[in-house]
Amino acid sequence: MSRVFNFSAGPAVLPEEVLKKAAAEMLDWNGSGQSVMEMSHRGKEFIAIAEAAEADLRELLAIPSNYKVLFLQGGATLQFAMIPMNLLAGKTSADYVNTGEWSKKAIKEAKLFCQPNVIASSEDQKFTYAPAQGDWKPSADAAYVHYCANETIGGVEFQWIPETGDVPLVCDMSSNILSKPIDITKYGLIYAGAQKNIGPAGLTIVIIREDLIGKAPEKTPAMLNYKTHADADSMYNTPPTYGIYIAGLVFKWLKEQGGLAAMQKKNAEKAALIYDLLDSSSFYNNPVRREDRSLMNIPFTLAKPELDDEFLKGAKARGLVQLKGHRSVGGMRASIYNAMPLEGVQALVEYMKEFEVKNA
Ligand SMILES: *Cc1c(COP(=O)(O)O)cnc(C)c1O
Repeated sequence: MSRVFNFSAGPAVLPEEVLKKAAAEMLDWNGSGQSVMEMSHRGKEFIAIAEAAEADLRELLAIPSNYKVLFLQGGATLQFAMIPMNLLAGKTSADYVNTGEWSKKAIKEAKLFCQPNVIASSEDQKFTYAPAQGDWKPSADAAYVHYCANETIGGVEFQWIPETGDVPLVCDMSSNILSKPIDITKYGLIYAGAQKNIGPAGLTIVIIREDLIGKAPEKTPAMLNYKTHADADSMYNTPPTYGIYIAGLVFKWLKEQGGLAAMQKKNAEKAALIYDLLDSSSFYNNPVRREDRSLMNIPFTLAKPELDDEFLKGAKARGLVQLKGHRSVGGMRASIYNAMPLEGVQALVEYMKEFEVKNA
């Protein structure tokens, strides 16, 4: 069987080495005579797996000791609610930057709990850029500032970290976490659903500065309170055990690749192959401002949209799958997360060139 190159935005490609290791350990993890899926989450085997996963993640991202790492469920989408529930701390407003579909969802959910002030937006240009810090209009009494570091649908990525002074910076990093080194100390809270650049769907990772924990109102349900999970080392109830195990294998794989600085270099190389082609072609177009282009998700359109289906069909015949753009924007989208090999991107670029020559 030959594997395809999967350009899906999520659930997305996983490193082949990780899948092989998981396959080899499927029936018998490390001489335990069990699959990880069958283990008690409180047994010493699984505790060791979870502890190693956390330690490796901390090492990869250089997470300081005053931050907690939480392994949760509910996706990034549940964080849209948990963040205001936990961080408002008696305040009635929070600041939000609106750069696209995922920002909008976060803002919409925040309205259930507070007044979300949109302090910067790129809606004026169809969400094709990241508003410069100088254009942000922070409000006086915001509990926190929220932004999405990489808009997975629009393909807009912040290549810089906002400065928010004493106001905690909260970031949706679902689709670019682990793609490059980041300075965790600039953030109050970072969250990410696993199924883009970490592991299987079902696991959500939250990295939170300790002083932000324990501020939820008393009536907050236990599962929605960060304190519950922080106090119980993410084992208050049954965590997504298999997802944590696979994420742990991905973290080990990332370390073997040379860590996040090495990944950043590879990711830049891969993205450049596609952007160079888009820029040199009058057949393909990407609308995003150059300096805000995502290295993870690259949307593009064909000059002849009536050829979209043919493009996708031809791609599939070559084992290049899931290139259809999000239903809200149309066109194509190539998601090229950490686990997408260079060969996959090369094959895509090759195909795109041939398709252009044939159809331009
Ligand atoms: C996919 C995605 C989400 C939603 O994640 P779920 O895990 O499906 O809830 C939120 N934000 C961004 C940036 C995403 O890419």
